[in-house]
Amino acid sequence: MNSALKVLRKYYGYENFRGDQNNVIESILSGRDTMAIMPTGGGKSICYQIPALLFKGITIVISPLISLMKDQVDSIKDLGIGAAYINSSISQSEILNICSDLKNGDIKILYVAPERLESTDFCHLIKSMQVSQVAVDEAHCVSQWGHDFRVSYTYIWKFIDDFSKRPVVTAFTATATEEVRVDIVNQIKLNNPAVFISGFDRKNLKISCLKVGNRFQHMLNYIKTNGEQSGIIYAATRKEVDSLYEKLKANNISAGRYHAGLSSVDREKNQEDFVYDRINVIVATNAFGMGIDKSNVRFVIHYNIPKNIESYYQEIGRAGRDGETSECILMFAPQDIITQKYLIETSIQSPERRINEYKKLQYMVDFVHYNGCLRKYILNYFGEHVDYEECGNCSNCIRKGEYVDKTVDSQKVLSCIYRMKREFGVNMIVDVLRGSSQKKVLQYGFDKISTYGIMKNYSKSQLSNFINTLIAQGYISLKEGEYPMVILNSQSVKILKGEEKVVLKEPAKAEKIITNSDLFEILRSCRREIADEESIPPYLIFADTTLRELSSRYPVTSEQMLDISGVGELKLKKYGNRFLKIIREYVEKNKIQPSWFFKGDLQKNHEGKSNKLKTFEITINMIKDNMSIEEISRKRELTVSTVVSHITKYLEEGEKFNLNVKFDNLFTIDEENKVLKVIEKLGLSKLKPIKESLPDNISYDKIKAIILKDCILDN
Ligand code: ADP
Ligand code: MG
Ligand code: ZN
Repeated sequence: MNSALKVLRKYYGYENFRGDQNNVIESILSGRDTMAIMPTGGGKSICYQIPALLFKGITIVISPLISLMKDQVDSIKDLGIGAAYINSSISQSEILNICSDLKNGDIKILYVAPERLESTDFCHLIKSMQVSQVAVDEAHCVSQWGHDFRVSYTYIWKFIDDFSKRPVVTAFTATATEEVRVDIVNQIKLNNPAVFISGFDRKNLKISCLKVGNRFQHMLNYIKTNGEQSGIIYAATRKEVDSLYEKLKANNISAGRYHAGLSSVDREKNQEDFVYDRINVIVATNAFGMGIDKSNVRFVIHYNIPKNIESYYQEIGRAGRDGETSECILMFAPQDIITQKYLIETSIQSPERRINEYKKLQYMVDFVHYNGCLRKYILNYFGEHVDYEECGNCSNCIRKGEYVDKTVDSQKVLSCIYRMKREFGVNMIVDVLRGSSQKKVLQYGFDKISTYGIMKNYSKSQLSNFINTLIAQGYISLKEGEYPMVILNSQSVKILKGEEKVVLKEPAKAEKIITNSDLFEILRSCRREIADEESIPPYLIFADTTLRELSSRYPVTSEQMLDISGVGELKLKKYGNRFLKIIREYVEKNKIQPSWFFKGDLQKNHEGKSNKLKTFEITINMIKDNMSIEEISRKRELTVSTVVSHITKYLEEGEKFNLNVKFDNLFTIDEENKVLKVIEKLGLSKLKPIKESLPDNISYDKIKAIILKDCILDN
């Protein structure tokens, strides 16, 4: 086994490298400058931390944010790795302590704020040590093209240039654009760097775009349904943040807020409450997020349209860093485009840049109206080739929600607008359609037009929701101005003439992103207790993924616990006993046979199974604990087919428990459709002819999984 992998397993407790991690690390270890571009949550930190441990001297990590730095250092110290940070919050005497630790070799990784590089004292100090690597995290901050430009990043090259023996220089970012990449190489003066660019897809993020009339109500339902989960709500302006915050509080939601109008003390406190799981949701402007490494953010809601795809993707990227299923919901209302245009007009001086921003905003608006796969749209925007038509995990690919023909009701609304002759806001139209006898309505003589009172069957809020939905869908336009006025457009004309139908999808009911089992909840409160005792955020102790694995595999010995992803040697030593005790009690009480869940023990326990779980029941338990088929097959070292056969057996035994089977990325919607079509023709009796009528890349595993899915839907 190579030494990097050993470190990964021993310290981090992870079984294998992800994506490019191994290649990046090898490149760094060979002494070559290296730049890695990986999506948020891709695991960039490990790429410079493992070489830092294997190199002789120290590694300096340049990182832009103080809050980020503290959490990062806490998290590696918690793994048993010597680390420290220096920024403006650290006193001179502490700095001296750190320096002596550096000299003694007690500290392998030193995080510094870029401003430090401007201090000659500091540079002098550093130059007297053996530095083997300078790692620049969030390297896009060096680029004026990026969104987080920092002047002090432009001094990095000088800092490196002054070493008598040049260290290996490495740079990391999630920003994908070509301009930024080129800037990083030039500005930091990377020396013939090896460049690694990973795919940007974040498969665990479900991407939804909703055009609902009543956004707040929808959001509230969603948050209530997902009560115990962490989420971020982005809004376009401070005013909107404040108003949403108040409304959520009034509805008893545990919420905080964050925007540049709050004092820095309040901002810091609210951010910390969120990171430490003291509040569930935070309502924020786009000022919030950099410096949030919290790995268990389960949803990100955009209450307003963001200014461009870059910001949008970065913001939704804050969900699901731990790789768990997470959801991103964009709620669209056309008024928001007007807000964004206003922000461009008032905040950008240069005419060229303004045009550029308008262009980017248009891509964002097109995204909202796009009918194809939303994930594919985004990846294509970043220049990434995608070889599927449907991802199966965005609101356009998931065929949930009922379609209803609303053509006649739409025609009523449109013809009313037409007959009112002048321009009005939504409320006035609602009043006329509902036959209100308000003074203004009568004054204009609207009680005389033929559409007066023809939609009394709608309540006031239902009707205004309906009209807002028509606006969101583009069947009516809004005219910009102090008060948005409703006007007809070419789309409206087609509807009025009966040339096109209005078919609306009723938005699917708010659903739970993920269900926590009771053991998960017990372990989670234990994690919180420890976090309080140690004053570090809970996710740093164990990620949600680790808790989930603990709660579905039931390790009861230290050895078994080490087999859980995210449990390294030090964490086992520090926290193992507390968690093991809980699991042992749980296993005892619920008569679970834990050793079934670990390799090697499987065969041993095959005999004498009378009062133990049958192998297929273990699979079912894991399904109930929310693990996907792929995960189960990996954890239990069974083929996908076997796992599928377990579920089938369970169903055949007549169990009617509502199984929520996660098929994840086992097959695409496209493949599913193909298989279903063939089955319709050939029937289900034999698999071989089905396989032979399909393209080669559709394996037996896939076919079996698709059949299972179809069968579950039928149940
Ligand atoms: P980035 O900086 O690229 O956004 P991080 O370095 O913060 O991502 O890593 C995100 C999460 O993924 C962390 O919780 C980290 O521990 C986890 N992680 C990183 N590498 C692996 C791996 N090889 N296996 C499992 N989890 C990993
Ligand atoms: Mg990072
Ligand atoms: Zn899709």
